[in-house]
Amino acid sequence: MIDSLVDKLLAELAQVDNLLVCVDFDGTICELGPDAYAVHPHPGAIAALEELAGLPGTSVAVLSGRHLDGLRQVCPLREPVILVGSHGAEPTQGGPTLTAEEHAELDRIGAELERIAVAPAFVEVKPYQRVLHVAKVEDTTLKAAMLQEALALPSRIPPTPGHNVVEFSAVTTTKGTWLSAEKTRFDATLFAGDDVTDETALAVLDPARGDVGIKIGAATGTVTADTCAQHRLSSVEEMAQFLLRLAAARRSAQG
Ligand SMILES: [Mg+2]
Repeated sequence: MIDSLVDKLLAELAQVDNLLVCVDFDGTICELGPDAYAVHPHPGAIAALEELAGLPGTSVAVLSGRHLDGLRQVCPLREPVILVGSHGAEPTQGGPTLTAEEHAELDRIGAELERIAVAPAFVEVKPYQRVLHVAKVEDTTLKAAMLQEALALPSRIPPTPGHNVVEFSAVTTTKGTWLSAEKTRFDATLFAGDDVTDETALAVLDPARGDVGIKIGAATGTVTADTCAQHRLSSVEEMAQFLLRLAAARRSAQG
């Protein structure tokens, strides 16, 4: 994003009466790492989100694909920040109840993924999802083969590919369904994310009424068609700086 555009966005977001700041976690405010639980969120991003959550007319949510307990292990933010896990299916309170059929389907897919996963690949068990992780596999041919085989598994709800993962869900809740319901309580929403599942959330934003969507990650070559976000920041570092500047802008607008 060019500096003048960043300045314009910050000036607009600073003036919103009731703002929701919603961010993905991994790859957005925390660098990705081969060990999902040995990662540390950007301290600047955490400080900025904590400050924003304490300002009048400002709510902060972290909307992650991790299950809620897993998110709590790596994200130090607590109330009033809203933590939402499993792509929106695990809000801090509540969440859908699975049927026996849905549990059976998850067990079946989990078993298939266990068959496909060759260590150090592994299968993560979440309340509503089963996920094949291949980030630690060094043999790129083997890694691609495992991802391809997983994606080809029959399932009631098609799987979602991500960075070194394939995820199967028993529920149709997406980041987009969670955000579209939540954002009705606010005048405008900022959402930032880096991965395929974040596109569902970016897609429910309405720029005409002041919503702002940011894709994290450098564009590959001239390809910009990988996102429906209007804006792009190249890294977790740039996102942290943006959040720090947003916190300062809202603080001074209210001062
Ligand atoms: Mg992410």
